[in-house]
Amino acid sequence: MSLTVVNPATEEPIAELEQAGVEEADDAVARAKAAYPAWRAVSPADRARLLRRVATLVEENGEELARIESQNVGKPISGARGEIGMVAQVFHFYAGAVDKHGGETIPVAGGVAATFREPLGVVGLIVPWNFPANIASWKLGPALACGNTVVLKPAELTPLSAVRLGELCLEAGIPEGVVNVVVGKGSVVGQRLIEHPDVAKIAFTGSTEVGRIVMQGAAGTIKRVTLELGGKSANVVFEDADLEKAAAAAPYAVFDNAGQDCCARSRVLVQRSVYDRFLDLLVDATRGVQVGDPLDDATEMGPLVSAAHRETVASFVEGEPAFRGDIPDGPGYWYPCTLVEATNDDRVAREEVFGPVAAVIPFEDEADAIRLSNDTPYGLSGSIWTRNGARALRVARATDAGVLSVNANTSVRVQTPFGGFKQSGFGRELGLHALEGYSEVKSVFISTEG
Ligand code: NDP
Repeated sequence: MSLTVVNPATEEPIAELEQAGVEEADDAVARAKAAYPAWRAVSPADRARLLRRVATLVEENGEELARIESQNVGKPISGARGEIGMVAQVFHFYAGAVDKHGGETIPVAGGVAATFREPLGVVGLIVPWNFPANIASWKLGPALACGNTVVLKPAELTPLSAVRLGELCLEAGIPEGVVNVVVGKGSVVGQRLIEHPDVAKIAFTGSTEVGRIVMQGAAGTIKRVTLELGGKSANVVFEDADLEKAAAAAPYAVFDNAGQDCCARSRVLVQRSVYDRFLDLLVDATRGVQVGDPLDDATEMGPLVSAAHRETVASFVEGEPAFRGDIPDGPGYWYPCTLVEATNDDRVAREEVFGPVAAVIPFEDEADAIRLSNDTPYGLSGSIWTRNGARALRVARATDAGVLSVNANTSVRVQTPFGGFKQSGFGRELGLHALEGYSEVKSVFISTEG
């Protein structure tokens, strides 16, 4: 069966791909299994060289990859360029990590105990449609660095950059069978990877609902699992913050990638004493978001990924919002930047909207801010805006989330661990922490007794 890939900004088809089923998934796992012994035996220095070569090829083909990503996801080209830049950085980082990820020697009686980090084998990588190349690289980099072979399943809506990345891995000299990209439905190909006895681990990014399916399916073969799931993060603005700076940054924190971001700070918690003033500033800043043709350099927000997703997003907005932005006429799955005044019990504040809709919620004091911030089943990211350093640290420590920023709204850096608390998942991607999720610790005791 073939799969038609659509540009969400034009609703026009942009590619036609063969859609894989269970048989093709099995073939890919068999190729990965066959390639594993030779790949794990490649010397660390040579593996590092190959990963560095992938990074260089991503840089050399950066503009093409950014255009693929922009046209397939509908994301602004400026953002897509940044994301592809990060893909290259990820491969550079893990190239550098390959020969620095060692074990330890442990003092024990009667001999020497040493630990080794061993690869897992074949790893299934299931990635979503919101940051297809980026999230694929967060898994590919550490998985390959540790000596695993992989089967990568991109989301059906956005497979194009993953297919191209697979080609670049081959061009870089990574042996055939080490990186296998399989385009097919999650419920078919993804499900098969979860259940396959020769797959040692599933690294998954996507919805909390499918995360549960991954955990349940993995139980059958005691597969390793890391899950990066949804979020409902808070942007907490205290009365002592630089309100202008916080308001200028807030739209990017929630409307970036049209809000289709697990780290979106989609709950804007504002101290009541400055609530009205901050809301005015936030409306002004949101009015300035440039929505339009994703291939225009000046565009800051494109359409949503699909018509079905737009319907879901629209279902969260009832009544008259505090602000609704403009969207282009004509085709495309557009949805305007929207600010809704809410309480933390409203549906818009409890569920992941995954669209450009922010719930603005007042709080009374520091304790109330922490309570509201944590009053969610999720725990992925968040921001704290205050000029009081001690308060920033107190609130950061008290917030149940994996990735926080103070007086800034970024979550993701190649060097730092990324992942969630609570129902946002477990396991860490990026940084050196990610290597732990793609290797097992082995302890070897060598007797020194004669
Ligand atoms: P999904 O969780 O359904 O999709 C993520 C990936 O999982 C895709 O590759 C998908 O494949 C695959 N998948 C789907 N079903 C299964 C299954 N049974 N077994 C194995 N793999 C499967 O997310 P959606 O794309 O449907 O988005 C729904 C919501 O999830 C969003 O609105 C958002 O709230 C949240 N989400 C969160 C993300 C995050 O970054 N944390 C990313 C994406 C979504 P395919 O799509 O090809 O069927």
